[in-house]
Amino acid sequence: MNHCLSVVVQTPAHSAIAPILCYQSELPLAPGTLVRVPLGKRETLGVVWDESAADASPLPELALRPLSGVLQGIAPLNANWRRLVGFTASYYQRSLGEVALAALPPQLRDLSPVQVGRRLKRIRSGAVGDAAPLAAAQTLTVEQTEALQRFHSEPGPFLLFGATGSGKTEVYLQAVQQLLARDALAQALVMVPEINLTPQLEARFRERFVGTYGEDAVASMHSGMTPAQRLKSWLAAHQGVARIVLGTRMAVFASMPTLRLIVVDEEHDPSYKSQEGARYSARDLAVYRSQLESEGTAPGQGCRVLLGSATPSMESWHHSRAEGGRYQRLLMPSRVGASASSTLPRVRLVDMSQQPKRTVFSPPLLAAMQERIARGEQSMIFLNRRGYAPVLQCASCDWKSECPHCSAYRVFHKIDRSLRCHHCGFTERVPRACPSCGDLDLVTVGRGTERLEEQLCELLAEWRRPDGALVRIARIDADSTRLKGALQEQLAQVHSGEVDVLVGTQMIAKGHDFRNITLVAALNPDGALFSCDFRAAERLFSLLMQAAGRAGRDASQGQQSEMWIQTMHAKHALFTALKKHDFAGFAAQQLQEREQAAMPPFSFQALVRAEGRSQEVAQGFLQAASAAAADVPDFERVTLYPPVPMSIQRVANVERAQMLVESASRVALQRFLAGWHEVLQSTRRLPTHKGLIRWAVDVDPLAI
Ligand code: ADP
Ligand code: ZN
Ligand code: ZN
Repeated sequence: MNHCLSVVVQTPAHSAIAPILCYQSELPLAPGTLVRVPLGKRETLGVVWDESAADASPLPELALRPLSGVLQGIAPLNANWRRLVGFTASYYQRSLGEVALAALPPQLRDLSPVQVGRRLKRIRSGAVGDAAPLAAAQTLTVEQTEALQRFHSEPGPFLLFGATGSGKTEVYLQAVQQLLARDALAQALVMVPEINLTPQLEARFRERFVGTYGEDAVASMHSGMTPAQRLKSWLAAHQGVARIVLGTRMAVFASMPTLRLIVVDEEHDPSYKSQEGARYSARDLAVYRSQLESEGTAPGQGCRVLLGSATPSMESWHHSRAEGGRYQRLLMPSRVGASASSTLPRVRLVDMSQQPKRTVFSPPLLAAMQERIARGEQSMIFLNRRGYAPVLQCASCDWKSECPHCSAYRVFHKIDRSLRCHHCGFTERVPRACPSCGDLDLVTVGRGTERLEEQLCELLAEWRRPDGALVRIARIDADSTRLKGALQEQLAQVHSGEVDVLVGTQMIAKGHDFRNITLVAALNPDGALFSCDFRAAERLFSLLMQAAGRAGRDASQGQQSEMWIQTMHAKHALFTALKKHDFAGFAAQQLQEREQAAMPPFSFQALVRAEGRSQEVAQGFLQAASAAAADVPDFERVTLYPPVPMSIQRVANVERAQMLVESASRVALQRFLAGWHEVLQSTRRLPTHKGLIRWAVDVDPLAI
């Protein structure tokens, strides 16, 4: 007898194909089974889904086709995984197939079942024969001990609010260690925001666990891995062989049948929010997933979730408030090794309105750097703009280095004398003369890291290290690290002490554990102070706190470390709070403003973005979909704002517009979006919106 199976396959976001397809099978197959199915002329990977066959619709023009094969030897993806995928698809307004298939390693799709079977055999299972002892764990500080105790005795979710260098990683390590020791099957998922940070973390986890649990017990998952590596890690996690999975946001979808702990390090980091496809927040999904994995389990069983940060997101901070919060807040305010040298860096503000115009390095900052160099210590200068100069301009006419395809200027890169658009990539050699009037006098406006490096070389040319050698300056940004392995190499040079002054973008501000850096300086971070994005201040504060956190991490250092900020607004409340390392004060003030203005986390938002041949088309589509929304459920509980051009409104000749949808209720917003989806789809099909290229919804957007 033939069975009718529901299967999800990869389908384009708003395609007309039903989200779940039907296939014939001679055998009944459990939901979650990986299968290969015919789709049109192709054959593709699918996942057997829960819906009874009656709910699923067959491809409109085709009779029920038999499935082509089953991926033998791979256990079905379990119900919790399927629910996580189902939730993600509906919450973030994408198709089930898109989310499900994107959550699987690409090679599962591309290899034949036989090839996958071979990979499967290569994974060594289980612990190593004679268990080597665990690498010695550190003796915990009082704060670490208390945090871990509460972590074990309370239900969570937890927000570990720990200063930079307070030893949060050690808390994660020991939480995992105690879990694995207690439960012979348990798996833990540890997430970090950036690929660049995974090698450091992986090294620490390997050192701690591989001896006892075997080589394959620690698996990584991030987009920098080869397809073969990704498949291997995925299979190891899915089979329960990998006891610990370390990864970036994509790892939140790892199939881990016995998941008991999720750690989200630097939980405030914007890179947990995906910026394409289903724009999910891996941090939020981690919390959801832990709930899901805990349903129906005995208290203290289930899956715990631990978010950690020195500068938590306003959302998590608010959720962990003393009264009425859903999260437990664990506090670790002190740096490890409470000597004077390991206290948090002193924050020094330089009021640039008191300096001569066009000063780049104020004299006191220069003097401080020179002092550090003379002592053999390292400094880090941080400027959030790469390239040599953001604009090239003609001195005699109006010409500026605009990108012909975008509403933005092309950046002057001196190293290869190019003008490069950082939005569409359009690159040309720098013209010898002004393309408009022929004048030879082209001047740079503003500065980026490349120019900063050049200026520093001149300024420090006369200075010497303690060993008499010239001062060495290095630059780390997206340009200097384009080649594979370049970043690791450059970081190694910083760690080994070869470099005296490190110049870079926010790439260097995050997470790296630099031992000998005792001075960090941020040049001109003022842009964010007056941004129209209500999250800009929060981002700046956390970036500066994180950057400051790079300084003085080595307790053996005798010197007080310093964070310098050159600003035109030295009296700004944000800097006052930063000076006192007063995150709580800053957060209280931010949350108060947001509550008054009914902004997240006191309201819920979604953005609809539209891209079209012209701004009229993009906005017209949003306008029409908005006008047609009146009959959608919960329409009266949401506010639809008028469409506006995006801040960079044209990229690669595509005009972009967006529209904000807001509600005081998350449930109402969700219900409205679910109902509105069809309206958007049918609006898009109207001949009046022919020039529309695409549209997408971003739920809980981070940048507005
Ligand atoms: P965070 O993640 O909070 O910034 P880390 O976990 O990186 O901090 O810890 C900072 C430094 O302190 C690391 O070098 C770490 O090895 C060390 N450390 C952490 N906990 C302890 C401890 N209990 N005793 C001694 N050193 C510790
Ligand atoms: Zn000109
Ligand atoms: Zn461009």
